[in-house]
Amino acid sequence: MKGKIIVLAIVILLAVGFIVKQAIPKKYTYEAVLLDTEAKVLYKAKIPLGVKFPIKSPYSGKKTAYPAYQCAKDGTIFPYVPPPPPKEGEEVSPDYGIPKCPKDGSLDVDVPILPEGKTFIKLK
Ligand SMILES: [Zn+2]
Repeated sequence: MKGKIIVLAIVILLAVGFIVKQAIPKKYTYEAVLLDTEAKVLYKAKIPLGVKFPIKSPYSGKKTAYPAYQCAKDGTIFPYVPPPPPKEGEEVSPDYGIPKCPKDGSLDVDVPILPEGKTFIKLK
């Protein structure tokens, strides 16, 4: 009899643990290449999905980090500053919200690749 109660208690504990685990929202992170616009540092960081930019940079200690992009044509590395959401009825350009090279306006951009083994580089 006692053994059965213990088994039952374990089953209940496991079930409760499972329910609690399911109830906690999962936090997804991904590795992004970010650009600290103040410290001028390009770095890799694990950031939560759907995070609002700018986020706090460990290099400047401030909210100055944006997703980094690099122009495929001229190699310009630039921060992607998300535009403010358009107002209702506002007309936006077809390239609205798309990362664009600040030098030549090219949409042919990519996430910059850091040198092998490096997690950050200082930009000039
Ligand atoms: Zn460019």
